[in-house]
Amino acid sequence: MTLFGGIEAGGTKFVCAVGSGPEDIRGEIRFPTTTPEETFGRAIEFFKDQPEPVSAIGVGTFGPVDLNPKSPKFGYITMTPKPGWANTDFVGALRRVFDVPIGFDTDVNAAALGEHRWGAAQGLDTFLYLTIGTGIGGGAMVEGNLLHGLIHPEMGHCYLPHDRKGDPYSGSCPYHGDCFEGLACGPAMEGRWGQRAETLPADHPAWELEAEYISLALSCYVTILSPQRIILGGGVMEGPGLFPLVREKTQQKLNGYVQVPEILDKIAAYIVPPGLGNKSGVLGAIALARQAYGG
Ligand code: ZN
Repeated sequence: MTLFGGIEAGGTKFVCAVGSGPEDIRGEIRFPTTTPEETFGRAIEFFKDQPEPVSAIGVGTFGPVDLNPKSPKFGYITMTPKPGWANTDFVGALRRVFDVPIGFDTDVNAAALGEHRWGAAQGLDTFLYLTIGTGIGGGAMVEGNLLHGLIHPEMGHCYLPHDRKGDPYSGSCPYHGDCFEGLACGPAMEGRWGQRAETLPADHPAWELEAEYISLALSCYVTILSPQRIILGGGVMEGPGLFPLVREKTQQKLNGYVQVPEILDKIAAYIVPPGLGNKSGVLGAIALARQAYGG
């Protein structure tokens, strides 16, 4: 059996796993994201300690990152506001130790690839994976390829209509204030309502407003990317009743314009949670490794 390594690199924690897929995870470890040296060191040690070597490693990471193979900074985390992590050579740190193919992409593109291979996007070629948690990020597969383009999508940072009378909260994004992430990520909910999202009761107006912002964004993504399905992951989406509200409001916003049964009649199968649950990220990293290996 060929084994692969996966690294889900988040701003607060790293998850590393070795295996070949969801039914075959041989080892897994998670640890806090500290300095690049210490954090990469722990990941490298984990893979070196495995009884069998990995044939390729996949990395799905927070960013922004450089995904252009022709760029001298390919494989770097580029300009993150996370202290100590700007301009960090992620792929190089692995390459110095492991002589195997290395797949590298954003955390959300990796999750999208994992969902495509084993989860809620099997059989599709154009879809969206969006996570709404500590931040908001989107990965997309477009006609069979993960979308990179100029750098890679930054779907959390688009501006949405913001009615400041109804919602005076000025937003939490350090770059834009009230972009989608600034209005609707977990920390924005906490900033607006003064308590953590997971403690807000089902009848709290927070959920209606949250669904409003998410559906505004989704209706844009539907018209721009024409995804065959939208997968919504991240801790905030576990909020009570949020999925039905988001589906209903997205339908309302599109207002019958996109005339397909997926949206008009079968929206519950169109806007869905991840098929891999909270494992999309690390399994996606293994899927990236498999892709880099050529299988
Ligand atoms: Zn922003």
